[in-house]
Amino acid sequence: MSTIIPAKGVFINNRWQPSSSGKTIAMIAPATGKVFGEIARGTAADIDAAVAAARHAFEKGAWGKLTATERGRLLTNFGRIVEKHAEELALLEATDTGKPMKQARADMVALARYFEYYGGAADKVHGDTVPFMDGFLVNTIYEPLGVTAHIIPWNYPAQMFGRTIAPALAMGNATVCKPAEEACMVPLRLAELSVEAGFPEGAINMVPGLGEEAGAALSSHGDIDFISFTGSPEVGILIQTAAAKNHIGCTLELGGKSPQIIFEDADFDAAVASVAGAIVQNAGQTCSAGSRALVQRSIWDKFIAALKAKFETIQAGTPEMDLDLGPVISATQRDRINKMMAMAERAGAKVLAKGKIADGAPKEGFYVAPTIYYDVERSSEIAREEVFGPVLAAMPFEDEEDAIHLANSTDYGLVAGVWSKDGSRALRVGKKVRVGQLFINGYGAGGGIELPFGGMKKSGHGREKGFEALYEFAAMKTLVIKHN
Ligand code: ADP
Repeated sequence: MSTIIPAKGVFINNRWQPSSSGKTIAMIAPATGKVFGEIARGTAADIDAAVAAARHAFEKGAWGKLTATERGRLLTNFGRIVEKHAEELALLEATDTGKPMKQARADMVALARYFEYYGGAADKVHGDTVPFMDGFLVNTIYEPLGVTAHIIPWNYPAQMFGRTIAPALAMGNATVCKPAEEACMVPLRLAELSVEAGFPEGAINMVPGLGEEAGAALSSHGDIDFISFTGSPEVGILIQTAAAKNHIGCTLELGGKSPQIIFEDADFDAAVASVAGAIVQNAGQTCSAGSRALVQRSIWDKFIAALKAKFETIQAGTPEMDLDLGPVISATQRDRINKMMAMAERAGAKVLAKGKIADGAPKEGFYVAPTIYYDVERSSEIAREEVFGPVLAAMPFEDEEDAIHLANSTDYGLVAGVWSKDGSRALRVGKKVRVGQLFINGYGAGGGIELPFGGMKKSGHGREKGFEALYEFAAMKTLVIKHN
């Protein structure tokens, strides 16, 4: 891209306005290492204005007066508008994150689906009648929380916008979003497109900026009612602390070290393809990346030989080359990954295979050759900590008990896959793995909009996606009516 996309400001009350800082942040295309745009550097004052706009929209504005059906129609409409602009949005997402075009296009399909799904769900959330004493009628009612804050990461800016904003809107909340400073061009464009979809002023407010500045101001704001956060465990602690100080709730999705467990009776070829695919997807920068391959000892040699052969065909390149993966998001992230790999090697891990960086991928881009390690010490960092890059730790296990022990031996608990043609074994093992989402004879679900998703342990708490997400953004009121 030759011309630089100019900063638009902060999006409040359906209008772009300049940030009070007057400053901008340069946006770097990971595929080339070059600046391709700018965003406003939002401040605490901008956050104040955005929260005030959302509060007004919720309590006094047109947004708060809509029926659930009307909200649902707006969401559905937004989904159609995303579809209409899908190619433009995919190109922007690919430039911003470096991901291959086919993946960016798939992300737009998922984004549209979030709005379609929650559009359909908006008027289907209803309470119960509770049997109580004679002379009473008791009902439960779900109400919106009010103003919800959304702090999203850079790995899937478009999908994350849909995943967190759509259910909050479906429930009738007014939202303020702080997207990630590393990649947020699509969320900013979506804020604009929401006007085209018909959303009234103040329902969707967007303040780009730095985490420690705009992000911290939003999460600690005294007039928000809930925080939805996806990001690192370290920042997750800050978010939860900020929420606690205001006595509000939060959902935290903080990543994982997710295992695929392959038994000797697995569908071998499918498991090999899945293990390779689940770590190169989005260059391993996926919370639910399959970053550990746990393989039964009896098939270990054969499995890792097949995995090596498969991995050596994998190539990283620019979005336009549209290969298996793109670069990672930034020089900082690339250096962090390289440091973790050096540490793994110092701890004795050996390289089983490396994918390639395609000829022609710009040298200034942030490429990391996907790498598989074996001879991984179970207690080492590479076996236990999230890399957030295309780096897989392969480890053998002996039997079911050992597989369960190994699968549960990290602080995380987000997703796991169990591969076995013996259904009883797969369930027996799967039920004992402490994760929020379990796949049997498969891994990942291409967005999985309908499937409740979230963590156990250090992976966080609360559930996103599916119908469950709607309840996170709602408060239950119990209505007790006395009659004769
Ligand atoms: P990563 O390390 O993957 O970039 P982060 O947790 O740092 O993940 O970032 C996720 C989101 O949290 C981003 O939008 C970022 O700006 C925001 N963020 C970072 N630091 C803070 C903070 N101190 N308070 C609130 N939000 C923050």
